[in-house]
Amino acid sequence: MASATAVNPLLQISFQIPFDQIRAEHVEPAVDELLREARERLDQLTSDPAPRTFANTMERLDRLTERLEYAMQVTRNLEALATTPELRAANNAVQPKVSEFYSSLPLNEALWRAVQAYSETREAAALTGVRKRFLEKTIDNFRRHGALLDSAGKQRIAEMDVELTKLTLRFSENVLDSTNQFELVITEEARLAGLPESARAMARASAASKGLEAPSWRFTLQGPSYLAVLTYLDDAAFRRQVYEAFVNRATDEKFDNLPVLTRILELRREKANLLGYRDFADLVLEDRMAQTGARAQEFLLDLERKTLGFFHRENEELTAFAGQTALQPWDIAYYAEKQRAALYAFDEEALRPYFPLESVVSGMFEIVQRLYGIRVVEKAGAPVWDPEVKYYEIHDDRMSGNTLLGAFYADWFPRENKRAGAWMDVLITGGVLSGLREPHAAMICGNLTPPVDGRPSLLTHREVQTIFHEFGHLLHHCLSGVEMRALAGVNVAWDFVELPSQIMENWTWERDALDLFARHFETGSPIPADLFEKMCAARNFRAANAQMRQVGFAIADLALHREYSPQRDGDLLAYVRAILQRFSPAPLPERYGMIASFTHLFANPVGYGAGYYSYKWSEVLDADAFTRFRDSGIFSRDVGTRFRENILSRGDSEDPAELYRKFMGRDPDPNALLERSGLLTAAQ
Ligand SMILES: [Zn+2]
Repeated sequence: MASATAVNPLLQISFQIPFDQIRAEHVEPAVDELLREARERLDQLTSDPAPRTFANTMERLDRLTERLEYAMQVTRNLEALATTPELRAANNAVQPKVSEFYSSLPLNEALWRAVQAYSETREAAALTGVRKRFLEKTIDNFRRHGALLDSAGKQRIAEMDVELTKLTLRFSENVLDSTNQFELVITEEARLAGLPESARAMARASAASKGLEAPSWRFTLQGPSYLAVLTYLDDAAFRRQVYEAFVNRATDEKFDNLPVLTRILELRREKANLLGYRDFADLVLEDRMAQTGARAQEFLLDLERKTLGFFHRENEELTAFAGQTALQPWDIAYYAEKQRAALYAFDEEALRPYFPLESVVSGMFEIVQRLYGIRVVEKAGAPVWDPEVKYYEIHDDRMSGNTLLGAFYADWFPRENKRAGAWMDVLITGGVLSGLREPHAAMICGNLTPPVDGRPSLLTHREVQTIFHEFGHLLHHCLSGVEMRALAGVNVAWDFVELPSQIMENWTWERDALDLFARHFETGSPIPADLFEKMCAARNFRAANAQMRQVGFAIADLALHREYSPQRDGDLLAYVRAILQRFSPAPLPERYGMIASFTHLFANPVGYGAGYYSYKWSEVLDADAFTRFRDSGIFSRDVGTRFRENILSRGDSEDPAELYRKFMGRDPDPNALLERSGLLTAAQ
């Protein structure tokens, strides 16, 4: 196969990625070759007899897997965007080898000795800035993987990791199997009263796919089916049956996650203790903004206190609207939808004509040009994986000479060979590497409403927010000027990474920004004032309930990972139910096993475990940071420049709390989020 490697397009990092030439058969040989190369580079690094320097140790470590990463990112995204059975098989074949290699790095003793030896040099002691941070973070990472433990301790960590991988996999399999084992088939149309036609069609299609004879409608516990039933179906007994099945997934004998969950918690605690931490939350939060479980908890309790009064009021209003004395959990979404319709008479569909995709995208480019002094230009002729894909360059108006900061691909519409959802992903990390500026490359993808019947793609407001959100992540990557690859762009703390993305969504709620791009696709007129008002009013409908729900999950997550002891606290489901009751608008059923299907927390060895608070944490950051723009004018170049220089271009080159302070001049203040959600009283 020697001749094949000579033409394998995955072996060479190329800024113009030859997407049109990459084939499934390139993947395995390229990855095998690049893994071999990474191992060889690792050997060269660790066995180098020369005195340890930043260049021969840390820089080599930072670029150790650069070529492998490139090949993997290109392959992974190609599989996600233009899959074929061959590409999927090739991707599945290489994934385990590559992740095994990555997870072996922090356990590699020779590498640890090399980094340690370097850290004791005079050069290391004199490091400053991002280089200093890179060394410290590398050492911390080794330590958190057990590098300081004796051999028995290391052995135990390895055993626990293996067991955790198996358990978390079983956890998600149980959720999937238990979700899929439920079905409710209806044959009398009268029982579907209240359900909209789209949901009926979905249920009919589901019945047909199982070979059931018409007329029949099949309901499942998959998100769209479950939500439609709980939101619209008139028959309360029907709703109750589906609700109870949903919240008790993976708690029956056949797919019981309770023992799995208990063991995961036990292992996570043992691992944290062995590494010298009080609990799992303190272990995983150490290098995030919150730093400790106690601080994350304090943050949540503060939000709970501030939201509580609004929460009670919303619930009283809903009960009064429903004309019932006590609402049940399966009644909430149903009456809330009726109340929403009565209060706002607002149909999201009415906004679509004002959001043609092309206009939204060019308006967004205009906004970032005003704010950050960057120009986004479409370029024809780049090789792509589908004719619908567009290719853009980002230029810096502040630079002279070569102004190219980066380039990106945009792939917006659903296709059969493409995954669901929206995402930004990195292809090439450039920035200022070894003193030279190299452009970044990335991609931004969605599954937006496609053009139909000669009409352009007309988006919902939610879709517009999605585009802005993912473009925020993209800017965080493409504007990065960080010297170390490991700390560049979006490689930041989990509770910080959504700041650049979420802040972008704010512009989609501002009249002046909307007027740049929200234009009727036929008449060119802006969104009428009354429609805009309705859209803003509906935004905060039952905001306190939404907030309490998220805070409740986050508090339960921390309680399980910080406090729960089976000996002292007894039954785990009852323990979690008691916590979540505080955050529920209706009394929870006696049997309430939501936690047994909470894949965010338990379907991964780490995942969102002890990190669910990050959702609210980053919302606080984005709402607060946006007030600077709002107060100085939402197109302020001054504030934009400060945001670019302190946040967007800085990656993880400095403590994120410090970066935030440099931008804001102070620590984050949760009141901005409360105000944006309509949950602020004068007293706060
Ligand atoms: Zn995001």
